[in-house]
Amino acid sequence: MAIVAPHVRKHLSADALFRLVHSGFARLPEHRLDDTEISLTDALMAAFAMFSLKAPSLLAFAKERAAGNVHTIYGIARVPCDTYMRTILDPVSPKVFRPVFTSVFRQLQRGKALEPMVFLDGHYLLALEGTEYFSSQTIHCASCLHKVHRNGAITYFHQLLGAAIIHPDRREVIPLMPEPIMKHDGTDKNDCERNAAKRFVAKLRQDHPHLKFIVTEDRLSSNAPHIETLHAHGLHYILGVKEGDHAYLFQQVQVAEHAGRVTSSERHDRAAGVVHRFRFVNDVPLNASNVDVRVNFIEYWEISDTKVQHFSWVTDLRVSTRNVFHLMRGGRARWKIENETFNTLKNQGYHFEHTYGHGEQYLSVVFAMLMMLAFLVDQAQQLCCALFRAVWTKLGSKRMLWERMRALFYDYALTSMRQLFEALLYGFQKSSPLVTIDST
Ligand SMILES: [Zn+2]
Repeated sequence: MAIVAPHVRKHLSADALFRLVHSGFARLPEHRLDDTEISLTDALMAAFAMFSLKAPSLLAFAKERAAGNVHTIYGIARVPCDTYMRTILDPVSPKVFRPVFTSVFRQLQRGKALEPMVFLDGHYLLALEGTEYFSSQTIHCASCLHKVHRNGAITYFHQLLGAAIIHPDRREVIPLMPEPIMKHDGTDKNDCERNAAKRFVAKLRQDHPHLKFIVTEDRLSSNAPHIETLHAHGLHYILGVKEGDHAYLFQQVQVAEHAGRVTSSERHDRAAGVVHRFRFVNDVPLNASNVDVRVNFIEYWEISDTKVQHFSWVTDLRVSTRNVFHLMRGGRARWKIENETFNTLKNQGYHFEHTYGHGEQYLSVVFAMLMMLAFLVDQAQQLCCALFRAVWTKLGSKRMLWERMRALFYDYALTSMRQLFEALLYGFQKSSPLVTIDST
């Protein structure tokens, strides 16, 4: 008797998305004039496959059977050795990856896969946050940022501004192409998160002129120039604030409180044993030097028997007793970029901080971009593919899932990623399941 397998959405399956990434790479211009024994597409796809399989290195690909799977599953004609791969990828400017990220995003849009990620009135919640993924006293490249210490020692480091569509009710996050925080061609000046955010927002609008976003960030972003940048690009926001950093704002809230303009409300969640307490006021100045930058302010306490958690935000969305709870959940969901994105990349098999090679020009940044792209494809699976979720549930953890996935990949000749996931779910011995395919 046939088993009815979990639903697979044809255009959003791992196999379809790998093909999409491959065709995106194939469109990138070849920067080498000679020595093209291995194509740029193969070198990029090999690095992508390494992150997709969470392989600690490329060496395992050299095995005969795995080389076959590298061809059938990832479409790679010839796998470069790791030294050669680094040589090919080092001069590739990271900005070339934008259309590849966008094409995966468009595929998700076309498949209506992003609908469950809508947060409020057709708007997506977009979390932005900077993170450092490399630091060294000795290894460095032309793109490294640097910091000179008092004793003359230099620390070299790499950061990026990560961006991901998040939702308070969903574990999945949909990363967009990160903005590298790096030294740019021919300059010796350090870049910074604020400049990266400016570039990011402008490119976001070029890529998605009509998409509605509510940007959520930590308290470092709650400054007038950044709020003006968001406003100029038609982006709403929910940004953290802290009394220590925003004393004037908190004083103005006190003034409004005395004038009777502040609204307080409470919601009791008896099942969870917590009280949600709010106070909010609309239309207050952000700070003394930018009194014309007006914001709406929310302060929130989550009170349980054992502890009280306290948060505050500013937003351009008008706050009411009707929406304050939902806006609070949007503000609190920001941690998902820290937890579900960066921590996943660091601790769930992606080796975000591990050095696959640094290079002299862009290699370190190129690897970070390709890792984020592999993470995007994985998150698309988690969001859309019941087969992937069934395997994950069966194996109990991502770490186990990646481990078993690699073991099969290296040991069996496979025709597709779907075959690999089905083998993980049903075993090779069982009868082939009937797979229901949704061709939307
Ligand atoms: Zn570097």
